[in-house]
Amino acid sequence: MSGVSRPLIVANWKMNGLKTALEEISTMSTAVRDGAASACDLVVCPPATLIAAAAGICARSPVAIGGQSCHDRPCGAHTGDISAEMLKDAGAAFVIVGHSERRVDHGETDATTRAKAQAAIRAGLIPIICIGETRAERDDGRALAVLDRQVANSVPSQADFAEVVVAYEPIWAIGAGMTPSLPEVTVALASIRAALSQILPRRGPIARILYGGSVTPSDAAGLAAIEDVNGLLVGGASLVCSEFLAIATVYD
Ligand code: PEP
Repeated sequence: MSGVSRPLIVANWKMNGLKTALEEISTMSTAVRDGAASACDLVVCPPATLIAAAAGICARSPVAIGGQSCHDRPCGAHTGDISAEMLKDAGAAFVIVGHSERRVDHGETDATTRAKAQAAIRAGLIPIICIGETRAERDDGRALAVLDRQVANSVPSQADFAEVVVAYEPIWAIGAGMTPSLPEVTVALASIRAALSQILPRRGPIARILYGGSVTPSDAAGLAAIEDVNGLLVGGASLVCSEFLAIATVYD
């Protein structure tokens, strides 16, 4: 991981969590402030309704807060949407863009993802840009070509001058209880690193690339040990603080 900054572990809560879930964030904030998982950076992306409260809870802890998506415009007639500026104003420091659930549920494309990542950078947020192949694309031997295309079309070239994170999330692994083999992740990550370094000659070689898709405390160590894996994006296993911290401690 030479040249890459500390590993990054991101919790994606998706559409889960009422106000009572702030207890988990509070427990995590205190544990991390007291030294837990001190070898990596931690980000929790709760639903938008909890961002301001979560940011307040984490104000004096190293845990950062992120959004799960944003609009590409700063404001305007876009009912139901949230801009990157609004996330920043609520206390977020990161935002996930291009998650496969957004691509499938809301028809988001590589171009939409790039526009959102640009908006994040404009607002002073760090975009976590998600890419990943379907099962059929992997079975047809097209996974690397798909990842190449997604990097080329989803990552803004202006990110060469701002921090950007890329998350490799094979769609078929998300919420499925299965992960690619470690050699498959190794090959995919090396290919993503090469594609990223082409678009971002300065930033690409040192940008953090995460693996996401059914990560649990039992397989986190193997995934985290892969050379180009600079952290993990965790969905289901991030909803309970103890499980998320157990994953994050693989870097201790
Ligand atoms: C995700 O959707 O970003 C994710 C990683 O989910 P899970 O860990 O539940 O597969």
